[in-house]
Amino acid sequence: MPPSQAEQAPVVVVGGGFGGLSAALQLARGSGAPPVLLIEPQERFLFLPLLYECLSGELRRWEIAPRFSTLLAGSGVAWLQQRVQRIHPDDHSLSTDDGQRLHYSQLVVATGGRSLSFGIPGVAEFSRGFRSLADVDQLQLLVERLRLRSRPLQRLVIVGAGASGVELACKLADLLEGSAVIELIEQGPDLLPGSKAFNRDQARAALLQRDVRLRCGTRVRAVEAAAIQLEPAASPGGVEALACEAVIWTGGVGGCVPELEPALPLDPRGRLRVDAQLRVSGASDLFAIGDAASSPMATPEGDPDEGSLHPATAQVAYQQAAHVAANLLRLRRGEPLEPFVWNDLGEMLGLGIGQATLTGMGVTLAGPTAFQLRRLAYLARLPGLQHQLKVAGGWLAEWF
Ligand SMILES: Cc1cc2nc3c(=O)[nH]c(=O)nc-3n(C[C@H](O)[C@H](O)[C@H](O)COP(=O)(O)OP(=O)(O)OC[C@H]3O[C@@H](n4cnc5c(N)ncnc54)[C@H](O)[C@@H]3O)c2cc1C
Repeated sequence: MPPSQAEQAPVVVVGGGFGGLSAALQLARGSGAPPVLLIEPQERFLFLPLLYECLSGELRRWEIAPRFSTLLAGSGVAWLQQRVQRIHPDDHSLSTDDGQRLHYSQLVVATGGRSLSFGIPGVAEFSRGFRSLADVDQLQLLVERLRLRSRPLQRLVIVGAGASGVELACKLADLLEGSAVIELIEQGPDLLPGSKAFNRDQARAALLQRDVRLRCGTRVRAVEAAAIQLEPAASPGGVEALACEAVIWTGGVGGCVPELEPALPLDPRGRLRVDAQLRVSGASDLFAIGDAASSPMATPEGDPDEGSLHPATAQVAYQQAAHVAANLLRLRRGEPLEPFVWNDLGEMLGLGIGQATLTGMGVTLAGPTAFQLRRLAYLARLPGLQHQLKVAGGWLAEWF
């Protein structure tokens, strides 16, 4: 496409999750904003950090999953409800599932993450994930079935004692009320690697209180229809088969990136490698943010530290969204792009119904107050003022 034509094409944001929706909205609000097109196949935005509260019934579906049509009304962002199949960086175009070929001036890939199975047999076929409203539906049915049947030795296995695995284990334990044993499997030496010590201690106590059996230093060798094969690090080669009703897989996030033609090198987790300005290495006018990006942290001198990547969290995606929007406006004004610097605001974890722990911004707190603060912090992050007010109204009505 000739450069003059390329400039008239919209900025396209692919993926309307935490990073993409926020980047598109902020870009459209900027002065001298270009036309912005968001391409997202789902009808509703999904606030993933509150998916556990949706599972437990503490929050309602509409609260954590507002419609894109409502969120984008009057925002200046056009929405195409399609999935991007392929990106062609050489001629600044992309193709969608329904066969459309669209041109862009700049493209932001914000297509998020997916669970990684690490090639372990049976994970894809026999384990469940926890990333969507459909996963919530299935788990609610399972909980109902286990509670009704209430047979002795019913067992649920959750793989991965990172934030997702720990939060899920606590909520499920509260919902099951003893009708099944929960085993939480972690291949590393401890739960919540990378978390603050306070949160790790609170999480350990919460699991213990709920009788969740935490097995650290344990590798999953295979998942079967009604069992899981485990190998403890303490006895290499000794595999134990554990019968279970279901396996829920939270063990590792990789990028969920559309095909690129010609292909660009991805990192080992299938994410697009970006530089400090969030530009995809090897392609002009292509940016990536959030879980789809492999983005190095900055050293104290401001250089990229290739050995240390930004974590796959909503907080990072949100901050990268603001940054990429500002950089795209700089690009339009002919100004140099700025490097992204992450401001670590701390960590909040839900630890069962009505309970949470949080550290950050000078606050260290656990229990029901932490739960309410976590909800309020996320309320402020819900997209769209109208939606925030509607949700807040519902909560106030509950309290009074
Ligand atoms: C259950 C759960 C709980 C979590 N809790 C927390 C938490 O408490 N705190 C925290 O900081 N982080 C949390 N995270 C992580 C956080 O949600 C992610 O890091 C964040 O959502 C990443 O934002 P993103 O924009 O990169 O991707 P996402 O929010 O995943 O959005 C990606 C979007 O891209 C769309 N998409 C995918 N492929 C295509 C395609 N080919 N074409 C067009 N669109 C596409 C998807 O439909 C989706 O809407 C949690 C994650 C999960 C799964």
